[in-house]
Amino acid sequence: MMNSEYTEYIKAYAKSQGLENLNIKAALIDMDGVLYDSMKYHTIAWQRLATELGIESTREEFYLYEGMTGAAIIDLLFNRAFGKTVEPEEAKRLYSIKAEYFLEVGKVETMPHADEMLNILRSNEITRVLVTGSAQASILDRLEHDYPRIFDNDKRVTALDVKNGKPHPEPYLRGIEKAGCKAEECIVIENAPLGIQAGKAAGCFVIGITTGPIPREKMISAGADIVFDTMNDFACALPELIKVLKGYC
Ligand code: MG
Repeated sequence: MMNSEYTEYIKAYAKSQGLENLNIKAALIDMDGVLYDSMKYHTIAWQRLATELGIESTREEFYLYEGMTGAAIIDLLFNRAFGKTVEPEEAKRLYSIKAEYFLEVGKVETMPHADEMLNILRSNEITRVLVTGSAQASILDRLEHDYPRIFDNDKRVTALDVKNGKPHPEPYLRGIEKAGCKAEECIVIENAPLGIQAGKAAGCFVIGITTGPIPREKMISAGADIVFDTMNDFACALPELIKVLKGYC
């Protein structure tokens, strides 16, 4: 889609919501696969855990589970393999093993061009709220270092803050609360189908970015309003996009 097509789409979307303009004030931003190039490591760690538990899996499937809490993924695997659920304490123990495996794979890199994207949001006075299904301390603790002054401490929603992970809207509903505005004044920035579903269910305008093997068609069918093929494409388009999202043109 070219820029002018985005403009048309956004105007039509606003109209469908009964609004003259979108008047976007906040961006609710996913972490894995958006701010960090971490999904390849998560999928390796999950498959290693599954194999050790005697559960057959493919690495690809774990890309599609992105956004679910660790406990929900563990439950899904146990249900499929053994027809049973996992006690919360046991799920917690298994998730901590997966978190260790994740660390062993290597040091996660930041997503190229994500810093540009975030700084454009900040300089345009769009409130930034982190909304992640992750509880991985090794990454959460690096956020301020890697992306200084982007996310205030009270503008973060992690797996520890919610009962239901994505695709449930709860994480994004909490994000909207923290942003201090209405759902229709928020955009969601996501790389995963379940996260996109969660953002739409929360009532937000959702922008998908393909930063891994999940094709854009899967983002569209999950409900993404606009999809960019790379973070660089998104960062380049963002200054113009913000003018339209804020209703300036
Ligand atoms: Mg993600």
